[in-house]
Amino acid sequence: MTPMASYLKAPVTITGGSGARLFDEEGTEYLSANAALWNVHCGFDEPRIGDAIREQLDSLPYGTLFRFAHEPALQLARRLVELAPASGLTRVFYGTSGASGVDAALKLARRYQRLVGRPGRASVGALADSYHGTLYGALSVTGEDLGQDEYAVDRSTVVHVPTPLDAETAAAALERLRERADGLAAVIVEPILGSAGVLVPHQDFFTGLGELCRSRDILLIADEVATGFGRTGTMFCSEQFGLEPDLVVLSKGINSGYLPLSAVLVHERVWSAFQEREASLLTGETQAGNPLACAAALATLEVIEDDKLVARAARLGAELSAAITDALPRARGQAREPVGRGLMLGVHLQGSGGLPGMDEVNAVVERFRSLGVIVHPSERGFGLLPPLVVTEDDIGTIAEAAARVFDELDLR
Ligand code: PLP
Repeated sequence: MTPMASYLKAPVTITGGSGARLFDEEGTEYLSANAALWNVHCGFDEPRIGDAIREQLDSLPYGTLFRFAHEPALQLARRLVELAPASGLTRVFYGTSGASGVDAALKLARRYQRLVGRPGRASVGALADSYHGTLYGALSVTGEDLGQDEYAVDRSTVVHVPTPLDAETAAAALERLRERADGLAAVIVEPILGSAGVLVPHQDFFTGLGELCRSRDILLIADEVATGFGRTGTMFCSEQFGLEPDLVVLSKGINSGYLPLSAVLVHERVWSAFQEREASLLTGETQAGNPLACAAALATLEVIEDDKLVARAARLGAELSAAITDALPRARGQAREPVGRGLMLGVHLQGSGGLPGMDEVNAVVERFRSLGVIVHPSERGFGLLPPLVVTEDDIGTIAEAAARVFDELDLR
């Protein structure tokens, strides 16, 4: 997804990090205001996670979940179930990335409907601006244009509905899902859309969606890959909207990004459908639930709890949002107040025709970087999703850079 020219022109090779800060090979320091893809919740040098990985390395560096189990995977599953954002989420399925977790969730949902005698329920509802990853299954439900046509991604069983940012669109999106309800195995949503530039769906949509899914036994899949583990100021974001998902996809932040891992939390009802019929899901990856990755996740969850990082995300997110808002007058109407929750914030830019052009966004991101701050580009502007260990000083650094960028902004 990186324009090749930018690699060739100015490759930045990161050689180290501390807290929310990164260093390149020339010793230049950057504030990672995007947690290196919204991933590194506990910062770039958390020793408690490193120690857990080293300890696990000494006992069992690899173990498969194919007909076997190992202790870190079992312990982590128990812990995730304790933390789950809704009742009934009692089972855990491991993968290696957000996209592989989404693929597993889609398979779980479609197979579940067949097992309970509804073979006609093969479609999946999704939002028009959503991002769920780039493997074929995840890409099929992704609404954002990522070359689905060029790659012959089959979307014949996907129902994309408008992203419900206001009450009117929420009603329209729900209506469209209701019309198609007979064929729906599941609906997949990001509680807050990240890749689209941070968009917060209207509460009416989530309320109506919960009712629709419950009444028709359509599985509700919460893709909390970006929003999970405290990012939005609560452990999971579903809680903030009263969502009661049947499947929850988790990945980023699960072990602070130190090793590849994803987990799908699965409702007991879904698991039972498989169990009672002695059916297996017929999916799995060699590295799913790798013990080093699971040990890192257990340590991460302890750090998040011991250091109260969830409350910290809520508090510092409010501070970051306020600091950016203070700098806004300098943008002379070309940037809007940050949207989002906790430390998942998007600043939308206002170009002459509405959205800014991608060249303009890239120039803004580049200018931030020249000021030592790495922000995340989106078609709507830029995202601020720093590690949850970001400090007040770091927020000052981001706000100062934003003030400079806003001063110079010339999108018209
Ligand atoms: N789902 C959401 C909401 C994401 O934000 C992402 C990644 O940004 C993914 C899925 C895909 O995760 P991965 O890149 O680990 O495959």
